[in-house]
Amino acid sequence: MAEDRALGPAGKPLVFRVDDSTPEVVQSVLLERGWDKFEQGGQDVEGWNLYWRTSSFRMAEHANIKPWQHLNHHPGTTRLTRKDHLAKHLRHMKKTYGAALDEFIPLTFVMPNDYSKFVAEYFREKHRAGGARSCWICKPAERSRGRGILIFRDIKDLVFDDTYVVQKYICNPLLVGRYKCDLRIYVCVTGFQPLTIYIYQEGLARFATEKFDLGNLRNSHAHLTNSSINKCGASYGKVKEVVGHGCKWTLSRFFSYLRSWDVDDLLLWQKINHVVILTVLAIAPSVPVAANCFELFGFDILVDDNLKPWLLEVNFSPALSIDCSADASVKRKLIHDTIELIYLRSPRNERAEWREGAKGRHSVSLAKLHAGRLNKPGSTRPSEALLQRTGRTLEDESAVKKDLKICPENKHASQPREMVSGRKDLLLSTKEPPRTKAKLTGRHSTYHKTLLPFMSLIQSCGGRTSVSPCVPLDSSNVPGLQAGNFVLIFPFNEATYGASRNGLNVRRIIQELRKLMNKQHPHVVDMEAKRR
Ligand code: ADP
Repeated sequence: MAEDRALGPAGKPLVFRVDDSTPEVVQSVLLERGWDKFEQGGQDVEGWNLYWRTSSFRMAEHANIKPWQHLNHHPGTTRLTRKDHLAKHLRHMKKTYGAALDEFIPLTFVMPNDYSKFVAEYFREKHRAGGARSCWICKPAERSRGRGILIFRDIKDLVFDDTYVVQKYICNPLLVGRYKCDLRIYVCVTGFQPLTIYIYQEGLARFATEKFDLGNLRNSHAHLTNSSINKCGASYGKVKEVVGHGCKWTLSRFFSYLRSWDVDDLLLWQKINHVVILTVLAIAPSVPVAANCFELFGFDILVDDNLKPWLLEVNFSPALSIDCSADASVKRKLIHDTIELIYLRSPRNERAEWREGAKGRHSVSLAKLHAGRLNKPGSTRPSEALLQRTGRTLEDESAVKKDLKICPENKHASQPREMVSGRKDLLLSTKEPPRTKAKLTGRHSTYHKTLLPFMSLIQSCGGRTSVSPCVPLDSSNVPGLQAGNFVLIFPFNEATYGASRNGLNVRRIIQELRKLMNKQHPHVVDMEAKRR
């Protein structure tokens, strides 16, 4: 039994602290990894290593953090997770750094302050469309799970009694078998100063359970994709066209579905990565400095039928309840990988590495650490599955020079495919993924694309490529490339690394991001520029 315990420095067991709000899956994963649970009221009040709870921490708790402790929230992140704050920060970034930077969120007005601006836009739209009215969605700024949402065409129907956002309703969502869906993308920011962002290469696609119908805006089971709403609907348990039972797929299943239609899922994934980087960048300069904390965000992305990803909102403490098989396959591993990311090592190595660290001897090269973990035989870890498929090691990636290519193949390759939608299913779908947009990606070709973006940076940092595996990821280290399904997406090259170390040079980072977008999808950038 003792052999299975995760040990910290000086051979002490690692201890996690929770409160009533801590998701069950977090506790069970930590216990599975050999951590001990902190006993409230015990003698050693500071004797814990990780405190994970749903609500944020007080500044005093951040200020008193000890070097061996971590908190699962960063202060100040409601700038991102409150709908009104998010809109304001993105608007500010656009104003400061130039056009087109916020075009990934639907046109948004914050009520009541922007009411007259909204009225002006409403009538301008109405006039432009020759009387045909656009749809709008009104959402309470601070609520979640689809509560208090209203979709309307006529301004007479707009009601709000608190802070709300009114947003252009995306009327052309990509439908799967006539059902609307959105994507839950998990993102872990391990530090705002310096800014370090990881994206999770698995996630969830969440479906409405009734067919999309603009003729009936009041049907929340057709227009809202929140599972808290849809799991209570009459159609939840029915077998639905293409979607099947329930209301969730894994993200890998969703991307497999797109690939089966020859949709360029790599391009879509790259665009999602850019949305994530720009969104976090919008708030990063204003977030207070804090040590030893991280934030796991849930980004809600709606993809339209032109394969444009729209950011709907960013969730604080994304739901970790396990309601179905898709949840089970994604969320347990998500927590395992989050712990690995924070502690930058695998569960098996945890004990040995802490011991070695306690002796203060070994400093293992990042590449070696990754490669060692990735090559462990017989493991079912997604990253290993990918590696076995591609035959790559991190060292092989050294062939990949300068450019970042962010791509989702890890998740595609890694998760057990629950089902790849066959043509038979797709024939039933009336609104198919847009075949005309499809460009390059066959199911197999993505596996040969690069997924490890950061080799050039690691190489260029020469002597700094080593991190001590016994030290939680910290701002003085070059960030790790990958932990399980987490992949580093920011910084993504030497220039952005430099521009985010001593203070944050947002202008420079945006320039680099624009260059990257131009390189990755010049035709899209051109088209969007023309449209403007
Ligand atoms: P909540 O925090 O209540 O979940 P969201 O902003 O995520 O609020 O919206 C809930 C759901 O409403 C989304 O999952 C999506 O299905 C739908 N939705 C929200 N905003 C839009 C929009 N602008 N266009 C189309 N659908 C939207």
